[in-house]
Amino acid sequence: MSAAFPPSLWAEVAVPRAPASPLRGEVEAEVVVVGAGFTGLSAALHLARRGVAPIVVEAHAVGWGASGRNNGQVIPTLTAAEPDAMALRWGEAGERFARLVGGSAAYLFDTVREEGIEAEAEAEAEQTGWFQPAHSPGRIRISEGRVAAWQRLGFPAELLDRAACEAMLGTDFWFGGMFNPTGGHVNPLGLARGLATAAERRGATIHEGSPVTAWTREGEGWRVRTAQGSVRARALILATNAYTDLVERTLASRISRQVVPVLSWQMATTPLGDNLRAKVLPGRQAVSDTSGDLRFFRYDARNRMITGGAVIGGWRAAERVRNKAARRLAEAFPDMGVPEMSHVWSGYIGMTWDRFPCIHRLGPDGWTWTGCNGRGVALSVSLGREIAAAVTGTAERDLALPLSDPAPLPFPQVARRVAPAYLAWLRRKDRIEIAND
Ligand SMILES: Cc1cc2nc3c(=O)[nH]c(=O)nc-3n(C[C@H](O)[C@H](O)[C@H](O)COP(=O)(O)OP(=O)(O)OC[C@H]3O[C@@H](n4cnc5c(N)ncnc54)[C@H](O)[C@@H]3O)c2cc1C
Repeated sequence: MSAAFPPSLWAEVAVPRAPASPLRGEVEAEVVVVGAGFTGLSAALHLARRGVAPIVVEAHAVGWGASGRNNGQVIPTLTAAEPDAMALRWGEAGERFARLVGGSAAYLFDTVREEGIEAEAEAEAEQTGWFQPAHSPGRIRISEGRVAAWQRLGFPAELLDRAACEAMLGTDFWFGGMFNPTGGHVNPLGLARGLATAAERRGATIHEGSPVTAWTREGEGWRVRTAQGSVRARALILATNAYTDLVERTLASRISRQVVPVLSWQMATTPLGDNLRAKVLPGRQAVSDTSGDLRFFRYDARNRMITGGAVIGGWRAAERVRNKAARRLAEAFPDMGVPEMSHVWSGYIGMTWDRFPCIHRLGPDGWTWTGCNGRGVALSVSLGREIAAAVTGTAERDLALPLSDPAPLPFPQVARRVAPAYLAWLRRKDRIEIAND
């Protein structure tokens, strides 16, 4: 399997990483991690920090999955599940998980600083805050509820009124919203490569170009197999997330059938000039609004606006989504005009039917999670830390891991086929909210 990287802005600008050798022969480790995205790399880093030297086995290359292709928005919330809903569903573990989510953006930036990733791998980390503007006047009530809920947990969420929102964004297109200063944005592939280097420096071994074909319980431990080798280990972390069955269809069907992988398109404008940047989003925050057919954008280190979207159906999808995203930016920021897009790329997001993530114990010392629902940059780094803690003996009552049994969708292929209709429904809902508020 080649370690060639899918084209994207990040693949073009991130500091290159020398490919690690594939796994060959039979080796032993205390912990084996499958998948080198943020979850697997953060778990490896935190294990190594705790004195355990894990082996990470990656099918393609570090950051090849969602971690190297995303918008890079570092967001300390889930998409739909509110902190109170987490506590309601999972009890005390849910309360601990809500705190993990609320602290996840700050934790990511702290990790970047502590590990010297900024200097080393150019994660292009900017902790400028994350803003969720309301797309209709009525939606501000949702922002108010969310701000109150996060403040109750002690996190620094703030409600911005319409004037403050206009000052932050440089447009009156939105109606106020929730701001959290701990968020921001990163070059995600740079961050993945930086986490890999940090984990390796502390003793982890990474093998790339090594698709895992099977994992089994063997005696008191686990065995993970690739075409050319195997790892035997006490503990297993399956960190393959939405790419689980996209890489190896039968690797973990009960886990992967819980999510519908939805293709999300990302794109970058050509760099915007100084005059425009002084007007549009002058504070360089990461922004994703409250609409179902999400509007999201942020600058990168070269002053490109990084945005994206989704379209229904595959016919000329890249061209249609490029036009749609450019038109939506122009609608919100008339001064910008219709921007030229220099890069368009895509990746799969694992969506769950209720928008809650699924975190599982696979057996003794075996862990996995899936279902980020598009909010996994900060979350996966914190979950990697938490899973590393679980593997090294932290008691379940102290972990922020709300565990559940896998609940595969009854007809996953049907769900995958009808998923695009969900976008149509979200668009209709957005239109109704804007018209009626
Ligand atoms: C287009 C897009 C935009 C997004 N934008 C944002 C955003 O702005 N903010 C945000 O918070 N979240 C965003 N997300 C979500 C976020 O990127 C993910 O939640 C996060 O990166 C998940 O990290 P992960 O390590 O769990 O999974 P991944 O990064 O997907 O890593 C899984 C790894 O497992 C490997 N793998 C799979 N199967 C095997 C196998 N059989 N053997 C060995 N290795 C295997 C894959 O190659 C991959 O490298 C976005 C996602 C996408 C796709």
